[in-house]
Amino acid sequence: MTGLKTKTFALIPAAGMGRRMGASINKQYLQLGELPIVARTISIFEQAPFIDGIFLVIPEEEIPYCRQHVVEACGFRKVLEIIPGGKERQNSVMNGLNALQRLAQKDDVVLIHDGVRPFITQVLLQESIAVAMNNDGALVAVPVKDTIKTVREGIVVDTPVRDTLWQAQTPQSFRFDIIHTAHLSAARDGFAGTDDASLVERQGGVVRIVRGDYRNIKITTPEDLVLAEAFLAGT
Ligand code: C5P
Repeated sequence: MTGLKTKTFALIPAAGMGRRMGASINKQYLQLGELPIVARTISIFEQAPFIDGIFLVIPEEEIPYCRQHVVEACGFRKVLEIIPGGKERQNSVMNGLNALQRLAQKDDVVLIHDGVRPFITQVLLQESIAVAMNNDGALVAVPVKDTIKTVREGIVVDTPVRDTLWQAQTPQSFRFDIIHTAHLSAARDGFAGTDDASLVERQGGVVRIVRGDYRNIKITTPEDLVLAEAFLAGT
């Protein structure tokens, strides 16, 4: 026992190029209401009293723009570092974790949350932190609504039982040493996962579900933006 209180950090990967949106600027700077999408996401962590610091991962060439037009323009004081991203999301998160290593103790909690999911709630953040403290990981997810098929070359090869299928969202939250070790090990083995939890799962870690919210969408395509505007209008 060190007697020191554990800290809680947010790591926000926002270093994708947003090509699927087809907009001339990176999708995350598109306006949603009165704020750019990524600023809306950051503001939820900024306003949460239980978040000690935010690490933001941005494409290297966008860092000056993001610092000026998002972090300074919105007066975000908890953004401690803006880190250059990598080729894939996994590389970006790894860059963020390597930077966070200078500050985080091994039992500090890190919430990894996509920059383009601006509808996460403080309640889900709090639940995730509590679950991450007592498990190897906390994964915000919702049950799938549609039947999911496994398809190869246009032919259905399997229909997994729907009751067991959940759609992974973010945040995905972990104690720092668990997720950093999992990322280092995946990089060493050349393993590419599509989320952070899968890297902990492959180490035998127990990842517990936090039941999420269907509104916690990832804004990826123009239809998502229409949906996001409708959600916003309804709040
Ligand atoms: O790629 P995808 O749409 O799933 O992106 C999810 C999140 O990961 C986004 O916030 C995006 O900016 C981020 N990302 C990243 N670095 C990459 C690719 C995606 O930080 N190389």
